[in-house]
Amino acid sequence: LRTVTLAVLTLSLTAAATGCGNDSGGQSGEVKVGIALPTTKQTRWVSDGDNMKALFKKQGYKADVQYAEDSVDEQIKQVEKMIDSGDKLLIIGAVDGFELGDALQKASRAGVKVIAYDRLLLGSSNVDYYASFNNYKVGELQAQYIIDKLGLKKGGNAGPYNIELFAGDANDNNVRGFFAGAMDTLSDFIADGQLQVPSDQKRLSQVTTYKWQAEIANETMTTRLGDFYKSSTVDAVLAPNDGIARGIIDALKKDHYGTAGKPMPIVTGQDAEIDSVNEIIAGDQSMTVYKDTRKLAEVAVKMAQDILSGKRPETNSDNNDSNDNGNKVVPAYLLAPVSVDKSNYKKLLVDSGYIKASDLN
Ligand code: BGC
Repeated sequence: LRTVTLAVLTLSLTAAATGCGNDSGGQSGEVKVGIALPTTKQTRWVSDGDNMKALFKKQGYKADVQYAEDSVDEQIKQVEKMIDSGDKLLIIGAVDGFELGDALQKASRAGVKVIAYDRLLLGSSNVDYYASFNNYKVGELQAQYIIDKLGLKKGGNAGPYNIELFAGDANDNNVRGFFAGAMDTLSDFIADGQLQVPSDQKRLSQVTTYKWQAEIANETMTTRLGDFYKSSTVDAVLAPNDGIARGIIDALKKDHYGTAGKPMPIVTGQDAEIDSVNEIIAGDQSMTVYKDTRKLAEVAVKMAQDILSGKRPETNSDNNDSNDNGNKVVPAYLLAPVSVDKSNYKKLLVDSGYIKASDLN
């Protein structure tokens, strides 16, 4: 009898905390959660959505996953609809961190809590928690890989080696972290001349890539090769993610890199996408930064469950500059990214089940 009473008590407490009485919007007793993600163009977001949906389902919640295909207006519409349809909590990977302010205010007025997913939501006080990776570290890993492979040492006199720099979309807050981590690591070597940037495109505002589009990176690389490498070759390219890396690699191949006497430069990446791991195996892309999106989904879903049952979610980064959205420092849980190349992809990506061996060449 005691167990039964306790179970009933727990259930009604959960129901009270989540407000999942008559107005839950779903079937009776079913709490609905809205997941708004930026795009399906990078395969990682599709895994993020699928993983969270499955985890929520397992816990008895209903999750509605929407993709905005990089359109701010579309994402605003999707988020507003989620609030109107009675979702109790929102998990948002923003197309543009600044543009959701009104929608977030609407959420707050409706008592809907908000978790910023992977990308911080900016300028608003109506963001409750943030689940992501250490984005600064992502850039550090990319830059450190370049330095190690070129064999550069602080105070040394190697080179000069030619490097070209690229960054992601200017309205994605992560891009600032990625680029800062990379440039803080590269700048001493640029200053002492072991690295040089023939195009002279070194500031973030000069190297962003609209909506992370690989085609644009491809055109930019083609132009830079034509303009600045008539009588020299590029030794390294800081590419912020796998899609952009592949766009750059295509431009390099068109310019006969990867053929006799013209080796491929070191090209970085991020996301451990299957197509890029295949490029790593083929020797065209050098590395990627692996962010286990299964773990991020777990963190976000656990956060959501805690919030919905009135508990304070676990966080590990509450006073970090990188979680300051300009209005508040959003309490965050940040996971560690990992550098992956030909030497460790099997162990890290295949053995862990992140990528199926049968998907690789
Ligand atoms: C994510 C990356 C992704 C990029 C483009 C960033 O905010 O952190 O994993 O490659 O967006 O979608």
